[in-house]
Amino acid sequence: MIRAMRPIVIAANWKMHTTPADAGELARTIAARTAEPDVIRVICAPFVCLAAVNAAVNGLKPPIAVGAQNVHHELAGAYTGEVSAASLAGLASWVIVGHSERRRDAGETDELIGRKMVRAVDAGLRPIVCVGEQLKQREAARHVSVVTEQLRGVFGGHDPAALEAAGVVIAYEPVWAIGTGRNASGADAAEMASAIRDGLAGLGFAAGGEAVPILYGGSVTSANIGEFLVEPGLDGALVGGASLKPDEMAGIVARAAVTARARRSEAAGSSRRA
Ligand code: PEP
Repeated sequence: MIRAMRPIVIAANWKMHTTPADAGELARTIAARTAEPDVIRVICAPFVCLAAVNAAVNGLKPPIAVGAQNVHHELAGAYTGEVSAASLAGLASWVIVGHSERRRDAGETDELIGRKMVRAVDAGLRPIVCVGEQLKQREAARHVSVVTEQLRGVFGGHDPAALEAAGVVIAYEPVWAIGTGRNASGADAAEMASAIRDGLAGLGFAAGGEAVPILYGGSVTSANIGEFLVEPGLDGALVGGASLKPDEMAGIVARAAVTARARRSEAAGSSRRA
């Protein structure tokens, strides 16, 4: 059987950094330093910077996508300070949902994150759904059951075929690795990617979730990205702190392009052999 070739995705999460005055320049610099056609690059900027980032990268070849970091779960209404999926159209084509900083600070639950994911998809946005365990849960060897439960809570009751068609992406982000400088090992992340695909299979995703890209996130840098990209079950990274540094992004995307090209030639070889 020929396995579907999953793309390599490097998504930048700028968190609450940059302003409309400097975001466009940073986006342009990163776009120029990472111009690899084989890698899907996404810059997830603060809401108020989306217009500046969008204007800065509009029409670039190869294209670089713009993403938001959150979206509201309702269509519209009396939700002061919130941002609807419809209002992101034209400014973003991707959106992060369920980041652990939002689970922590805004009390987002799996069920709510699932509603955000569906709202995003309905508005034509590609969601990056974040899951990941706390340190205590890993130390108690509960990481797989915790993440499997998160997947059930987010994806349960939603149409797997529609989500797959919309290009849903999952980011495995162990909470203890985010912004700490302590990354998971490639092997640990790969073990979790495999568990995530088992979870997706149980939720009715076709071919055991083989078509769904899984990213690793948590203290990714240009020095450690290779450890994740040598794992066939991992398809890129969600990058926080390092994504604000053009040199780091250049190194990360250059390494990602090596894996993307290797996958393409492997896929071409196996279709010739078939
Ligand atoms: C993130 O914000 O999703 C993240 C992984 O951050 P960092 O790379 O800084 O750990």
